[in-house]
Amino acid sequence: RSFRDYTLSEDIVRALESLGYEEPTDVQSQVIPIALTKQDLAVKSQTGSGKTAAFGIPICEMVGWEENRPQALILTPTRELADQVKQDITNIGRFKRIKAVALYGKQPFAKQQLELNQKCHVVVGTPGRVMDHIKRGTLDLERLEFLVIDEADEMLRMGFIDQVEAIIDELPEDRITLLFSATLPKDVEKLCHQYMKNPIDIEI
Ligand code: AMP
Repeated sequence: RSFRDYTLSEDIVRALESLGYEEPTDVQSQVIPIALTKQDLAVKSQTGSGKTAAFGIPICEMVGWEENRPQALILTPTRELADQVKQDITNIGRFKRIKAVALYGKQPFAKQQLELNQKCHVVVGTPGRVMDHIKRGTLDLERLEFLVIDEADEMLRMGFIDQVEAIIDELPEDRITLLFSATLPKDVEKLCHQYMKNPIDIEI
């Protein structure tokens, strides 16, 4: 198993080497090749399995640097996770100069707005603040191609379901949706059913 088995550009492979990722983890070897074919995926896997890079690698590969507007949106239940995911995306996309912005509460709105106005390929955020930006017209989702719902069960447990659904309603229909969850309770399965196109189920 090697990252060179996938159709990844040299910029991405080099970044993985510099991060010390020698070979894909289980979740990565199952998710990366399918995500690269642009199919929806519902993945049951735990934190610590390497799930962030499982979606981060295909997203960094497929995002176009020339496009200044956000092409990927990653929703997370907490600020800490949003920061972590932003950092991982930045690391994986470093040689491609992928720009990721984190959006969450308790941080000045104006500062985030400024970041969104500069080059921004990937947005990572918690549902409440992401919705605020959509409502105020500061988050342009017209070019969005990838949606990741990270830790979906946690997101629902924290009561973010209505916000997540309201955000999805604002996204282009023609997109790829990847959902990650440690458990698959009924509400998460319902979310998959409603908002994904024949998702492939992966269980680690
Ligand atoms: P995550 O499940 O995304 O929170 O990742 C858990 C940890 O594994 C993080 O510290 C990652 O940097 C690390 N990691 C992810 N993928 C790999 C890999 N292929 N090889 C070695 N470490 C990895």
